[in-house]
Amino acid sequence: MKAFEKNIRRVEPYVPGEQPREKVIKLNTNENPYPPAPGVRTALERLEAGADAMRLYPDPTSRELTEALAEFYHVGTDQVFVGVGSDDVLSMCFLTFFNSDKPVFFPDITYSFYKVWAGLYRIPYECKPLDENFHIVKEDYYGENGGVIFPNPNAPTSLYESLDVVEDILRHNQDVIVIIDEAYIDFAGPSALSLLEKYENLIVTRTFSKSRSMAGMRIGYAIASPLLIRYLNDAKYSFNSYTMNQAALACGVEAVKDKAYFEEQVQKIKETRAWACEEFRKLGFTFPEPSGNFLFVTHPDYSAGRLFEELKKRGVYVRHWDSSRISPYLRVTVGTREEMEKLFEVIRIVLEL
Ligand code: PMP
Repeated sequence: MKAFEKNIRRVEPYVPGEQPREKVIKLNTNENPYPPAPGVRTALERLEAGADAMRLYPDPTSRELTEALAEFYHVGTDQVFVGVGSDDVLSMCFLTFFNSDKPVFFPDITYSFYKVWAGLYRIPYECKPLDENFHIVKEDYYGENGGVIFPNPNAPTSLYESLDVVEDILRHNQDVIVIIDEAYIDFAGPSALSLLEKYENLIVTRTFSKSRSMAGMRIGYAIASPLLIRYLNDAKYSFNSYTMNQAALACGVEAVKDKAYFEEQVQKIKETRAWACEEFRKLGFTFPEPSGNFLFVTHPDYSAGRLFEELKKRGVYVRHWDSSRISPYLRVTVGTREEMEKLFEVIRIVLEL
């Protein structure tokens, strides 16, 4: 180690899924297989025609996008915070809200970025094991802590917890901030947004990357009480005032406006998901009931690690982790019906069925 390295911040970074250059069937990063709303293309054309405007800074308040989201969710504009994907929003939330000496609680099997932000910002944390069916044990969250965060539906399990469970955890944690990461909620049951009026310490985070088909544009947001949004903005303006670029702001507004298109795409994914469940079952796979745009599947007779490699060799990318509790599972994003048919065709060849 060089002498000057001793004061360098060391972090264990998050490992994103692969983005292969060649054309593959890409079911490894929970992207949406359909294009974004048609208005997004129009917004890009408008931006191209008005490219001169790029010399100006974007609106630091992201006013139009914030207003569009506030209108869509029937909340005040002072209850919305936007960022560069929900990763940016969540990172800001960790920085802003988790400043205690007590540990932040989150599940042992969950979005692996939580540990990374905790490491980056030196936040103590404690992982609470999911039960044998991958459900949250709500009583584990009753103890003293410095905050709580979990995704609903959870990742990579795709399991949804009922609002009763979410509210129970909130009720027991009114002196800390509770973040519900709803990246996948549009494919699932009711959202925790309905609990905002009752719990001023609740933050709900969302993304345009999944249900709105805009992972490449990087847009995420949080909805919470005006008090918490003020704290988030203070942190943001102490970090980077111009997080959202002009294109993301303009395209985001168009995506939010087209409710009919949004609902139609979500419905298509849910239908393909239901069909994929049947197909996986026929092939002998088991899995928790999926509520996201992905499934978490395991086969009793075939190693997930091997299946992952065999699929990849044949141009089908899914996700596999080598960590103990989830190593028997593959996370498979719901693609188009055609992509899923191809997936099952390849699985049949590999399993020699
Ligand atoms: N939360 C969860 C649970 C996720 O799986 C993801 C996707 N990797 C994110 C947040 C972040 O998504 P994005 O930054 O694209 O909004």
